[in-house]
Amino acid sequence: MQIDIAAYKRIVVLTGAGVSVASSLRPYRGPGGVWEEHDVARLGHADALIERPRDTWDLFGGMREHVLAARPNAAHVALARWEASLRSEQEFLLITQNVDGLHQQAGSRNVCEIHGNIMYTRCSNFDCTLERFRDTAAHQDHVPTCTLCGQTLRPDIVLFGEELPVRPSWVARRALSDCDLFLAIGTSGTVAPASNFAREAPHAGARTIYLDLEPMQERSPAFQEEYLGRAEELLPRLIGLD
Ligand SMILES: [Zn+2]
Repeated sequence: MQIDIAAYKRIVVLTGAGVSVASSLRPYRGPGGVWEEHDVARLGHADALIERPRDTWDLFGGMREHVLAARPNAAHVALARWEASLRSEQEFLLITQNVDGLHQQAGSRNVCEIHGNIMYTRCSNFDCTLERFRDTAAHQDHVPTCTLCGQTLRPDIVLFGEELPVRPSWVARRALSDCDLFLAIGTSGTVAPASNFAREAPHAGARTIYLDLEPMQERSPAFQEEYLGRAEELLPRLIGLD
């Protein structure tokens, strides 16, 4: 059980919450998940940002301190080392659903954050020219407003009820439509957007691999191989970088 990583030219990896669990970041769902304490679907919904922005910051501002304290684990490091080991003719795109920035902290360079990054803040007004900026403040005492337009500032993440941002989705789909190796790690392969992404890779003729703690609840024909275990233990072995 080892992938000959030198044999592939266009590699796409999709990561989800399972990759960050070993960095002490809790997933939304499942045992110990944030959902057990917070009504994430309500507090983290796009409607809450408009009606009760304080709830938005209560939830996501509070997550910032956990993210600040978190460090990349062996799965993040293995992915960064994999990318660094590539020959010049090999392409590598890391698509992540995680908003913690731990891949970049580990050294990954070509990262496509389809759900944004919780450590950045931006204006909620789409017409505003304020650039997103790195922001470690939790803003749980009062809702911050934009210095340019006065509208509410928000964490730069995709809220429930919002579409995925156009550009990262486009980058992800373009890479998937032309990849020869696709790995989904720590993310349910049967739930969108992972399921949608996974469907594209077989069309490209790619080898498709699913790696997660739990088996797919409903086996997706998009994945040819399934490996079960902790990402931080399994991945370095699978790609021969342990
Ligand atoms: Zn603004």
